[in-house]
Amino acid sequence: MALTLEHCAVVGGELALAFGDGREAFLPLPMLRRACPCASCQGEPDALGRVIRPMVDHGADAFEMKGIDVVGGYAIQPRWADGHATGIYTFAYLLKLAGLDGSHRP
Ligand SMILES: [Zn+2]
Repeated sequence: MALTLEHCAVVGGELALAFGDGREAFLPLPMLRRACPCASCQGEPDALGRVIRPMVDHGADAFEMKGIDVVGGYAIQPRWADGHATGIYTFAYLLKLAGLDGSHRP
């Protein structure tokens, strides 16, 4: 069964996520922004497969979320106050960031 997102909202500096299978995740916005999976934040492998992580300058507005779009039913795309909006966070990636990716389930 595909993972679905029931609800997402910014609550007190964290992104609160509720998934269709009952799991809930709370991710602090600065952590979420630093984990931005887009190429300009995480780098892209060169011809030899080496990833040079770019220097990312996070300004005062970088950790404030202006809005969230749900992408294709499998990911979210946050819009940050500094205009950055290219990071697409899959639901699986969000669960991994929250430590809920299944490796420590009871
Ligand atoms: Zn990014």
